[in-house]
Amino acid sequence: MENKKNVLLRISNLKQYFPTGKKGMYVKANDGISIDIYEGETFGLVGESGCGKSTLGRAILQVYKQTDGRTMYYGRSRDEIAPGYIKDTIKNLEKRLAKRQELDKKLAALQAEYDKLDESAQYAKHEELRVAKKEANDALLDVATIVGGLMVSKDLGAVKAIFLEEYNLAAKLRAASLKHADLKLHYDDAAYALKKAKEKGKSGNGNAVQNAKNKLDACEKNMAEINKQLDEVRARIDDMRKPMQDDPEFRKYEAYRDDGIDLARLTYNEMRSLRNDLQLIFQDPYSSLNARMTVGQIIGEGMIAHKYFRRNDDRMKEEVLRVMEQCGLADYFLHRYPHQFSGGQRQRIGIARSLALKPKFVVCDEAVSALDVSIQAQIINLLQDLKDQQNLTYLFITHDLSVVKYISDRIGVMYLGSMVELAPSQDIFDQPLHPYTEALLDAIPTVEEDANREPLVLEGDIPSPVNPPSGCKFHTRCKYCTEICTKVVPELEEVAPGHFVACHHRLSEKK
Ligand code: SF4
Repeated sequence: MENKKNVLLRISNLKQYFPTGKKGMYVKANDGISIDIYEGETFGLVGESGCGKSTLGRAILQVYKQTDGRTMYYGRSRDEIAPGYIKDTIKNLEKRLAKRQELDKKLAALQAEYDKLDESAQYAKHEELRVAKKEANDALLDVATIVGGLMVSKDLGAVKAIFLEEYNLAAKLRAASLKHADLKLHYDDAAYALKKAKEKGKSGNGNAVQNAKNKLDACEKNMAEINKQLDEVRARIDDMRKPMQDDPEFRKYEAYRDDGIDLARLTYNEMRSLRNDLQLIFQDPYSSLNARMTVGQIIGEGMIAHKYFRRNDDRMKEEVLRVMEQCGLADYFLHRYPHQFSGGQRQRIGIARSLALKPKFVVCDEAVSALDVSIQAQIINLLQDLKDQQNLTYLFITHDLSVVKYISDRIGVMYLGSMVELAPSQDIFDQPLHPYTEALLDAIPTVEEDANREPLVLEGDIPSPVNPPSGCKFHTRCKYCTEICTKVVPELEEVAPGHFVACHHRLSEKK
């Protein structure tokens, strides 16, 4: 079902390492995570505390600069951001292609060596081969996502020139659209001042409105012209592709073309312009709100930063009150301070602050964990209603599987920085395939305790993410562990439609 939906975020091989202070040693909080998150879904992310799920939420939002991997975002077009990394890739096209060929050669040699080894020696070489494959693939994606099959063109100079032309027009469009946002604010201000003056029986400054309107019109005309030029360049790029359509090499790389924006490669300022799309609701409603700001200021702060309104604009107050009502906050709370509220109310304020920016993707990080059970249900219902009204996409992070059961479309289970199982929510509960998921489910308290039920206790602590166990990271605590588990990292494989698991002896094979 999910395949028909639009992917909003495609996360590939995301790594988030933190230095320990000792040379060459890192806390591997996220160690090669790959997931697609679909527009409009709630993706539940579960695992014991310390498994890296909160880090993953923050890494996707680029609160941390991710160590490695790609985080493709499809909520905006590349023209809207015109990221600098695209220009850099095109400018260095030949250099990058040469690097890729070098890595391909290295990989082929390593593969030949690997194939000659016996099974047990292959175990030892497995990781090296995996890393080499990844490096070669990354170098390929770097170029192929932008130019596609044209990377095998005989005239790379022409390819480079036309893609640079396209990029420069996109950058021009971006600058014009920023100017447009400013001019629109001016125009709205002037029109609003005129309306207010007329309400008071005064004539108001009609000239200011006309001037602002003229500037706005000129800017829109300019943007339409740039868009026309962009269409023309794109038509020329299509013309370059046409004669190559029958070349199998061309077709092979054409499939890699990708219009997403790689969040991991954006600069600080580029990322800032996307911040309103990507929001975070924190676990702790006590410390996440500024104690010296009123509710109105807290909710309005982002609107000013993103130029939705100017400070002290009456229309902003109207918008803040609208969002407050949507989040179940009474209008007389507007001038109150966070300490005057209960935990549940503060969490509503935090939600209102995020939602005021009209985001597309919201990470809810243990958003209900600090609340009483009865309040938890209210906040979950609120999040659900808001999602339905605004087609939001959630990454719902929690250590408690029972919390995500009803609200998640799909659930991902994490262990020690890796995704070990990922499936539609019901499948996780009805047919868990990973021993760790089985253990987490077993830990959920039930009302009717089955007399014959033998609780499957997870023995031992989570190992250190600085020096995780070799092979399957869960092998030190898994009762099904065999030799291969201690040596070979199990890949996350799709074993039934939409059901992925990383285990050498998944549970269905044992039942
Ligand atoms: S790979 Fe082996 S150790 Fe890891 S979960 Fe599966 S059976 Fe257990």
